[in-house]
Amino acid sequence: MAIKTYKKFDDQKITPNFRAREFDCQGSGCCSATPIDEELVAYLQQIRTYFGKPVHVTAYRCKTHNAKVANAAPNSYHCYGMAADFHIDGVKPTEIAKYAESIGIKGIGLYDTFVHIDTRTSKSFWYSHAQQRRTTFGGAPKKDAYTLYGFVWDVQNAVGASVDGIAGPETLNKTVTLSARKNRTHKAVLAVQKRLFALGYTEVGEADGIAGAKFTAAVTHFQKDNGCWADGEITAKNQTWKKLLGMA
Ligand SMILES: [Zn+2]
Ligand SMILES: [Zn+2]
Repeated sequence: MAIKTYKKFDDQKITPNFRAREFDCQGSGCCSATPIDEELVAYLQQIRTYFGKPVHVTAYRCKTHNAKVANAAPNSYHCYGMAADFHIDGVKPTEIAKYAESIGIKGIGLYDTFVHIDTRTSKSFWYSHAQQRRTTFGGAPKKDAYTLYGFVWDVQNAVGASVDGIAGPETLNKTVTLSARKNRTHKAVLAVQKRLFALGYTEVGEADGIAGAKFTAAVTHFQKDNGCWADGEITAKNQTWKKLLGMA
């Protein structure tokens, strides 16, 4: 995933429930572009889907605007498009923070009326503007929180389909055969390895992007469990691929 830059006020949909302009800096006349971390949007969409209600976000702050925001850190993740503050009507911030923790988000700040999340890579949890440290919000993440949503997102990037985290016909059509005999190395292999591991097929081993014997064994095991033709191969439209992508 990467940070993409949009023009301010860009109305295009970047996931099923978010438009680019929702991430714009809230200052006026201070900036004209909006950087958005794809990983941040993927997390927000996952949260949106889970709670099933609109998520109201404020995200990017240019340095000029950030300097005017009370309690803002000078080098805030908001200044890089990597953070969002948000609330959801009818959902307590404590519930949101708990869920955010459970899906593997590393930067979480709980406030009385909203939650802050960011895409930092080492854990930092806190409560309120006083930044009281927290070790957990009660939502212990699964050992590997590589969700279906993140998996589909990575697959779409790997095969060159439009990226929204939800698999459809376009994703299937762009898929190439992934197997030890054909595409031994492909970015989509890496995503499949991570996803199979997260589903408990730990024999897939280390995710290295290479379809070898371990990959074949894990795919075959998955196929047997799911009533698919057990040949260790993933092809564009086979049942295995549809099951992995959450389409069957
Ligand atoms: Zn600005
Ligand atoms: Zn924030």
